[in-house]
Amino acid sequence: MSPDLLDWTAGAERLVFEACGGCGRVRYFRRPFCPACGSQAVEARIASGRGTVYAATTVVRAPSAELRAFAPYGIALVDAAEGFRFMAHAADGLRIGDPVATAFRTFGSRLVPFCQPAGDP
Ligand SMILES: [Zn+2]
Repeated sequence: MSPDLLDWTAGAERLVFEACGGCGRVRYFRRPFCPACGSQAVEARIASGRGTVYAATTVVRAPSAELRAFAPYGIALVDAAEGFRFMAHAADGLRIGDPVATAFRTFGSRLVPFCQPAGDP
């Protein structure tokens, strides 16, 4: 993995996805080869953070004691403009089909993507 393409899981404020140079498919979870066609010509790319809400929910029971203070909080699955789906923290009130943009916030001890309604371009 190229160090300039670290993503939010490594503390960099960006979403990174992978595109296959063989078949063109994209995916969020990066691998050293394409699971669809087997090509090793995979390329990491920085996503715009723009997308559309696929699903949204509210977490009422936090998964750890550290996060209990934050509950309830929103989580969404978002279909990115680039064609992959990702999970992110989400603003209150997001609904399926809403256009969103991604910012980054500290949540507990981690940096997380945070989707909010997309403003006018
Ligand atoms: Zn492929």
